[in-house]
Amino acid sequence: MPTLPPLACAEPPARVRLLWQSGDGAAVPAALKAQGVRCGHDRDEQDLPTVVFAPPDVAASGAPRGSAGKAAYVVVVLPADPALAVDSPSDLLDTGADDVLDLADPAAVEFCVARAARTAARIWQAELRADRLRRDRDSLQAGIDNLPSPIFFKNSRGIYTGCNKAFEAFIGHPADKIVGSSVYGIAPCSLAKVYHEADTALMATGGTQIYEADVRYADGERHNVMFHKCTIEDERGRTVGLAGAMLDITERKQLEARLRHAAERDPLTKAYNRRKFLELAELTIARERAAGRPVGVAVCDIDHFKRINDRFGHACGDDVICRLVEVMQREIGSGNLLARAGGEEFFCLFPGLPLAEAAARAERLRQSLADERLGPDGTSLAVTASFGVAELARSGESLLAAIARADNALYCAKRSGRDRVCLADHPAAAPAAATSPVAAPGAESVRQECLTAAV
Ligand code: GH3
Ligand code: MG
Ligand code: MG
Repeated sequence: MPTLPPLACAEPPARVRLLWQSGDGAAVPAALKAQGVRCGHDRDEQDLPTVVFAPPDVAASGAPRGSAGKAAYVVVVLPADPALAVDSPSDLLDTGADDVLDLADPAAVEFCVARAARTAARIWQAELRADRLRRDRDSLQAGIDNLPSPIFFKNSRGIYTGCNKAFEAFIGHPADKIVGSSVYGIAPCSLAKVYHEADTALMATGGTQIYEADVRYADGERHNVMFHKCTIEDERGRTVGLAGAMLDITERKQLEARLRHAAERDPLTKAYNRRKFLELAELTIARERAAGRPVGVAVCDIDHFKRINDRFGHACGDDVICRLVEVMQREIGSGNLLARAGGEEFFCLFPGLPLAEAAARAERLRQSLADERLGPDGTSLAVTASFGVAELARSGESLLAAIARADNALYCAKRSGRDRVCLADHPAAAPAAATSPVAAPGAESVRQECLTAAV
């Protein structure tokens, strides 16, 4: 966790320039000369802390700072001669001087010069340090401005204290509008609330915070972003703000989505594949069983599909499979699952449906397929499919066991003429013999006629 370094107390440098500036060429007063005050200075003294001693009129003109630099410490020197005395010496401080030395008081001279030298040295060091900090800050800013990830800093009140160019581009405002503002000043209210709550949570606990978000950049483009934030603490461990960076993970997310799609979907139809079906079905079954609801499952197989391939070619067969999936997806009803189990075989899951209702839903699918013209480019090629339906036994039967029973019922549907739905009996019964058709809407010979007519 970053912490702020404590401010070091600078020691005054060993050497200080003590200059006399009279304006009219008057010599350095003897009392000052005795303390090392001189009229001019050597070239190598150019960059030393400087005290300028000057008569009131010269000090008031601003000339000492003009010649010795803004950091110079200016002492107004009142003449020892009472005839030249100034009415109100303290007013001289208002003209911009830092101190007043009255030469009429010789005892004050040494102390005043020492105090001025010391103070000038401290001012000089503070200036030096401020200059160094400015340069460090500028080079850090230049560094983060060249980084492509938006970076920002906030204080403990959630006010932006800095950001880089990428963050300006993300927000769509220049840094001078962002810095000094809270997130509510630069982001839509609903979004600002989300960011503010996340910041508040982080500041309360301290440490780091990482989360992903889908954000819209100022140019209107949406990006998947990973926020990395951490609190900043002072030397006493108190949270004084936070630093954040936004990593653009859009490409990674897209790649992940493509990989996930490839792992879960059948490449031809884009329907779920067998593995994903089994995964989703297990979750659904657990949920339904916990709620005491039944689950129906169906296995569907296209009738005489080999003939379609043989007559119209494999590509046409592919189109038929795709069209069939479109129809089934349209008709299966929300909450139900469809997957291509392989080849020309499909699985359906009907959460909440007991055997009879699952069979009715399968019958609706069968009817829709039979009614649909599934041939290539809308030709009137009639395609039918057979279904076997089972209900998962409430005793805790596995999904695969129920699918096996549905498959046996499908076998029965095929044997008894195709284009129909057959129900599996109770799991205890013998599978193949224990199936019974619930619908026999069209004899195979009739379907065959349709197929022939389409040719
Ligand atoms: P049944 O009514 O008994 O199911 O007869 P069928 O001809 O449909 O069954 P069979 O198992 O004899 O043939 C299935 C055919 O499905 C064989 C195979 O070439 C074809 N097939 C499997 N997958 C694909 C695919 O992705 N595309 C195409 N075009 N054909 C496929
Ligand atoms: Mg088949
Ligand atoms: Mg098959």
